[in-house]
Amino acid sequence: MDIDKKVWEVLCSQEDIKKRLRELGQELSKDYDSKKLYVVSLLKGSFIFTADLVRELVIPVKINFMTTSSYGYGMESSGAVEIVSDIDEDLTDYDILVVDDITDSGLTMKYVLEHLQKKNPASIKCCVLLDKPERRQVELNPDYVGFTIPDKFVVGYGLNYGSYYRNIPYVFVVTEKDR
Ligand code: 5GP
Repeated sequence: MDIDKKVWEVLCSQEDIKKRLRELGQELSKDYDSKKLYVVSLLKGSFIFTADLVRELVIPVKINFMTTSSYGYGMESSGAVEIVSDIDEDLTDYDILVVDDITDSGLTMKYVLEHLQKKNPASIKCCVLLDKPERRQVELNPDYVGFTIPDKFVVGYGLNYGSYYRNIPYVFVVTEKDR
């Protein structure tokens, strides 16, 4: 199903995102100064967020990618999290920051944090562009949040609808009409 352009509602504009990422970059650069920052970006949804965020950092950073199971073509999570592609590198003593596009139920992030914790990092935290706290099914408070948003299905800036719209440079809402 295609999204009818007439019902696109911009939630985070390009300007909003740029400004917020600059702030997050400054905060992270301060918090991780003199630490061994290792960003683990969750594919596919966070590829654009990660690319823009790491370019706001003024400290050394290692960047790697993990793939977890996703929503696929639907709007609801299956609830089962699966690691499709793991980090091979030894993470001992690194300060891991898991970066994702959005925290919805929290199942994905909780699963990934618990999985990476077993690899003996010095610390492990997470950063999400968008947080939907109303949807939470597990206890999880992301350490760094770009925007806290209401319970709406969002698309763009890396977030998909079907196989499309990840390239749209802002975040928009799919209204009830489309659900
Ligand atoms: P969670 O495990 O927190 O329920 O969901 C995490 C993943 O579900 C996100 O990384 C994202 O891929 C997908 N997701 C959750 N909410 C949305 C949404 O509103 N829009 C889109 N496009 N994906 C979402």
